Amino acid sequence: STPVVDKDKEEVTEYFNNNGFERWNKIYSDSDEVNAVQKDIRDGHGQTVDKVLAWIDADGDAAKRTFCDAGCGVGSLTIPLGMRGAKVAASDISKAMTTEAAARTKVALGSDAKRITFQTSDLESLSGSYDTVCCIDVMIHYPTDKMTEMVSKLCSMATNRVIISFAPDTWYYTALKAFGGLFPGPSKTTRAYLHKEEAVIAALKSAGFEVQRTQFTGTNFYFSRLLEATRA
Ligand code: SAM
Repeated sequence: STPVVDKDKEEVTEYFNNNGFERWNKIYSDSDEVNAVQKDIRDGHGQTVDKVLAWIDADGDAAKRTFCDAGCGVGSLTIPLGMRGAKVAASDISKAMTTEAAARTKVALGSDAKRITFQTSDLESLSGSYDTVCCIDVMIHYPTDKMTEMVSKLCSMATNRVIISFAPDTWYYTALKAFGGLFPGPSKTTRAYLHKEEAVIAALKSAGFEVQRTQFTGTNFYFSRLLEATRA
């Protein structure tokens, strides 16, 4: 059979190994070489990560759980999970990202870094079984028709729960995107897909998961709906 070439995925891989890596590595750090928009996105993303960690801390048993961090980027969630004693399998489609995430983890965790594994892989090719599967701000790279499949893949690897976030498709954000107010600057080099919250919840439901906790973060240039769902 003819292999299906996934244009979106090729573009995303190329972007996050080159310009996208440079851009996001700066945003996901405390470097001052960011403009006001990038700083706003950094703050918004930081709030999303903090909200995930607040849920995990409220449960108080991170060290007993195994986590998959799919699309881990530079490790913004992987590292604090590791610092809480969790075992984390971190992966990303971009080798530049996993290399950076592994280096940052080594600095932050020292010899405890061995609890964390890194793999360069798209999430469709992952396997394994984890208590919690996290996938933060990755869905923006998935077109609507691939979203359900993606959610089902993440759910299939979770014995207990999934924690996912996405840019919500509402009339307001759609209008902002159309006027170029959303995803300004070089991030335009990848397409950005918004998702209807009802559609994501339906995808979770058909994978046998029920939403337990939700959060929303919105700054000027960053918007992210965060959902935690557990096996029904
Ligand atoms: N989850 C990280 C965080 O919140 O810090 C990174 C978010 S960043 C906006 C999106 C990441 O998703 C990039 O590192 C990109 O390489 C990765 N990515 C995009 N499509 C992917 C796919 N199909 N499989 C795995 N990773 C993917």
